[in-house]
Amino acid sequence: MKKPIIKVNNRLKGDWGTTDTTPGKRPVIQINVKKHKADPFKKRYTLKQALADTMTHELMHAKHPRMTEKSVYKKTAKKMRSISKAEINKLVNKI
Ligand SMILES: [Zn+2]
Repeated sequence: MKKPIIKVNNRLKGDWGTTDTTPGKRPVIQINVKKHKADPFKKRYTLKQALADTMTHELMHAKHPRMTEKSVYKKTAKKMRSISKAEINKLVNKI
């Protein structure tokens, strides 16, 4: 996978994040930080945890463009159950 380009886009319609992949090009991940602040996943998470969850999810799309939404969702949930604080900070610092 080419290194993804990560940017903040607070105008994403209804989404916490998106990933655009074009074969041969760097994937482009957009994160709606404003939406995370307004709704860190129904208060289940802190803001940092919510951003780390979205980053894990979008990075998975970038790495596996053909993986289904359902699989990405499941794998992200699994990873988030055992993620460390250091990993969370590392993901959040990429944004
Ligand atoms: Zn997705």
